[in-house]
Amino acid sequence: MTSSTPVFRRLALIGIGLIGGSIARVARRDGIAGEIVISTRRRETLDRAAELGLGDAYTADMAEAVSGADCVIVSVPVGASGAVAAAIAGSLKPGAIVSDVGSVKSDVVRQMQPHLPAHVHFVPAHPVAGTEHSGPDAGFPELFRNRWCILTPPPGTDPAAVDTLARFWRACGSKVEFMTPEHHDMVLAITSHIPHLIAYNIVGTAAHLEQVTASEVIKFSAGGFRDFTRIAASDPTMWRDVFLHNKEAVLEMLGRFIEDLFALQRSIRFGDGDALFELFTKTRAIRRGIIDVGQDTAAPDFGRQTAEKQG
Ligand code: NAP
Repeated sequence: MTSSTPVFRRLALIGIGLIGGSIARVARRDGIAGEIVISTRRRETLDRAAELGLGDAYTADMAEAVSGADCVIVSVPVGASGAVAAAIAGSLKPGAIVSDVGSVKSDVVRQMQPHLPAHVHFVPAHPVAGTEHSGPDAGFPELFRNRWCILTPPPGTDPAAVDTLARFWRACGSKVEFMTPEHHDMVLAITSHIPHLIAYNIVGTAAHLEQVTASEVIKFSAGGFRDFTRIAASDPTMWRDVFLHNKEAVLEMLGRFIEDLFALQRSIRFGDGDALFELFTKTRAIRRGIIDVGQDTAAPDFGRQTAEKQG
């Protein structure tokens, strides 16, 4: 889709990895932003973004990048959000929209909001789309297509600013949903954060086994293990920050998960095949539901051929 008039005249992207790089690509391809200014922490990442032609201007100075921008999107690991907000606060244009893409919302609001001046509109967001790859080369313009983007505007946020950011994400291909930051963090804890923790844990357990060799684990990985390794290959910095900054919701959901795991352990120990069969039937229906709403394909191997492009 190509916008006839850009949603933003000037868009500043702070952080240009998988998510920032994907925003830059789709915004540029479809004319969603008139001008894209890119800033990132390390010189080599900035140079790579320039080589890839992701923006119109590049600067290592975040404050310089945001001056004159109608919208600023911060796409850095969630633990760095507060420091970025502090660095850009003094240079934001009155009326600018400030947003982010962090996988955690309550803590990002806590980190960023105190630094932001009253004359900007803060509209936190989370595009629920990704892959296990990171850095500016990993981005691609289709990443957000048909994926949800959750906006969590604080109470009292200017509705026009919220609408404009929603229009931006729709132009990027997303479907937009609104939630409170706290509810977002609970939903994502069970749908994203705990699954990643389980994947990290099972791959870690396999790595520590003594009775089964590492080469056997790799050789016979198509039995199921392989699909966990894709998730467990996700960026360590990003995921460390997710668990440190969504602690309460993750611990709450982890408690529920552990209780259910004990119940499964009991069913196996006591040979309760009916309980196992009943659960596995229910979970199969959930998988069908995900396919029915277009959030995955029914292709075998967990849609492996398209998984990289779907996250
Ligand atoms: P990424 O590919 O690793 O890119 C991270 C970017 O943040 C790079 O530009 C990097 O800059 C910068 N950065 C790293 N540490 C920083 C720090 N301490 N201070 C300032 N800048 C720093 O990460 P990503 O996957 O795009 O993730 C970015 C955000 O999107 C995260 O908050 C994540 O939770 C969220 N998110 C990720 C996914 C996913 O699947 N990956 C999905 C949805 C949302 P340098 O290279 O210059 O150091």
